[in-house]
Amino acid sequence: MKNFVHRGQITKVIFGSGTRERIPEEADALGCRRVLVLSTPDQAEQAERTAGLLGAAAAGVFTAAAPHTPVEVTGTAVAHARSLAADAVLAVGGGSTIGLGKAITARTGLPQLALPTTYAGSEMTPILGETEGRRKTTRRLPDVLLRTVVYDVDLTLTLPSAVSVASGLNAMAHAVEALYAEDRDPVAFLMAGEALDALVRSLPRIVRDPDDTEARADALYGAWLAGTCLGTVGMALHHKVCHVLGGTFGLPHAQTHAVVLPHVVAFNAPAAGRAMARLAQAIPGKAPATALFQLSGELGAPTALRDLGMPEAGIEQAAELVVQDGYWNPRPVDRDAVRAFLTRAWAGEAP
Ligand code: NAD
Repeated sequence: MKNFVHRGQITKVIFGSGTRERIPEEADALGCRRVLVLSTPDQAEQAERTAGLLGAAAAGVFTAAAPHTPVEVTGTAVAHARSLAADAVLAVGGGSTIGLGKAITARTGLPQLALPTTYAGSEMTPILGETEGRRKTTRRLPDVLLRTVVYDVDLTLTLPSAVSVASGLNAMAHAVEALYAEDRDPVAFLMAGEALDALVRSLPRIVRDPDDTEARADALYGAWLAGTCLGTVGMALHHKVCHVLGGTFGLPHAQTHAVVLPHVVAFNAPAAGRAMARLAQAIPGKAPATALFQLSGELGAPTALRDLGMPEAGIEQAAELVVQDGYWNPRPVDRDAVRAFLTRAWAGEAP
């Protein structure tokens, strides 16, 4: 028997097709009468449509959410929310928009609802990442947990196939690291395995047909579970590496996760037997790291950090930063090992 601690979550989750229609009653259930709808500039139309659904309960829209939650954007959004006397925020979008919502909640205490449209999973976590200048900091703040998350599979149909793949592999990374997390618990382990099964099943179908609603629903279901894992247990080497690469070289979030995952899995495999066995169940075939690398290739995901804009000279710096106050990891991490797998990941070689 292994002792464990499991943390439940306060977030109400609604899942299905057409579920966005429930937004007005969910806002009302929270006592919210003046909801500020958030989005990126790309999703401004979706934000306007959502404000339309809210009718009189919409206070306005703010459509300038940006990657990595820059504090200046948050400052403008908070001022906008105050000028409208908003009593809640509703994010329509991916991790960038939901991150802005959390940053507003952290500063104002306003409750947040979300309609997630990618597989990043931020909506299920108390993690707030913010950027000031070129510095990105990440904190766990229980107060930023969302009150209500409405997953509407219809909103994910417009996510381009290549972005869906990268975002899906980002979700898989949360699940993989939950399988071997230091504080893993039986529920997180079950959710992580189920998330991997759903994502491995659905992503190839989405590549073949991005309008396959069943596959889209399966992927969103996996993303919800993976996001819940990310919010529940601690992450390890993979997330540390991606954090360093994103922060230092401005690499795109989901794509970086997609490239790095097979390499970290190969490194951790000797120290994470039970996790590897569960991963092998989700992706049968060769060793899990090889199977993951192969799956990425078949899905057309990026496989080389150099293709994402990382300079070769950055490998050494990244290896140094990864070992500096590193996260807990099932296998002890040293600079030579990190340099070795980053060199392969940079060049797009198999793990
Ligand atoms: P994103 O939110 O930046 O979205 C990428 C682009 O896709 C945006 O232009 C967006 O408008 C567009 N888009 C999103 N959904 C769409 C749809 N259905 N159809 C068409 N276009 C769509 O990307 P992301 O990968 O979801 O989020 C990345 C950010 O989230 C990073 O800053 C990352 O650090 C953060 N994140 C945070 C957590 C957390 O727990 N705090 C978890 C995961 C990611």
